[in-house]
Amino acid sequence: MTRTVFVNGEYLPENEAKVSIFDRAFLMADGVYEVTSVLGGKLIDFAGHAKRLERSLNELEIKKPAVFDDLLEIHRELVRVNEIEDGLVYLQITRGAPGDRDFVFPDPETTEPTVVLFTQNKPGLADSPAAKVGMKIVSIEDVRWGRRDIKTVQLLYPSMGKMMAKKAGADDAWMVQDGHVTEGTSNNAYIIKGNTIITRALSNDILHGITRAAVLRFAKEAQIQVEERNFTIDEAKDADEAFITSASAFVMPVIEIDGVSLGDGTPGARTARLREIYLDESRKAAI
Ligand code: PMP
Repeated sequence: MTRTVFVNGEYLPENEAKVSIFDRAFLMADGVYEVTSVLGGKLIDFAGHAKRLERSLNELEIKKPAVFDDLLEIHRELVRVNEIEDGLVYLQITRGAPGDRDFVFPDPETTEPTVVLFTQNKPGLADSPAAKVGMKIVSIEDVRWGRRDIKTVQLLYPSMGKMMAKKAGADDAWMVQDGHVTEGTSNNAYIIKGNTIITRALSNDILHGITRAAVLRFAKEAQIQVEERNFTIDEAKDADEAFITSASAFVMPVIEIDGVSLGDGTPGARTARLREIYLDESRKAAI
């Protein structure tokens, strides 16, 4: 089945969808994105993603596209026509294609933002084997720019980080700045000590994960303590458990950091419980 995508107001087969070579995202990574997961044909936390998208656009002074208020409907339509039971919807909005290359932002009156949405089919997304096995993490220096709270399409360093992890025989990397973990290449990072979840506080240093917000809310409801503070890789190596969160991985256990096994080297019980609570509650609230 040829996938149907959405480009600038039109639903098209993927091989007919086109974006200009002068698009600012292609030339300057001048764009933002969101990823919403689909479980059982329904969108998980769409409202959270839409809110963060609006904030990303505002922070970069990218005009809201005309279709902004129709985004839920467009997500649903793509899920429907592409018959996605479990999967992901990617949404990319760029500052558009002014027709030539210039560092100066184009006039928003004459240059419309580019809007692209596409789906990825991921049958069994919530039953990933990695959730049972756990992930091995390596630490790398965080050399990204200073506005990581904006979800931009500048994903080169996260991509390089995943390659560094792969070369080191690991599954992903946690980034470290001034001795403290910021986040994973495409996820937020957590450790658990006793009955306390520890994760870096929100700032411009990390993406404000939609999954993070939900997991911390559910954790507090389940009387699990949450400490939002910096932690080091040494503290993480000494933790009882560790995990990551993202819209595509949900809650995923970490079993090894820089070659050091956590606990008995298998996914922790509290992490498994958090994953269960997150998936149950999110499925209930899915739209
Ligand atoms: N941090 C980074 C750098 C990310 O790329 C992501 C996922 N896109 C996250 C955190 C997790 O955010 P969310 O839970 O909203 O997917």
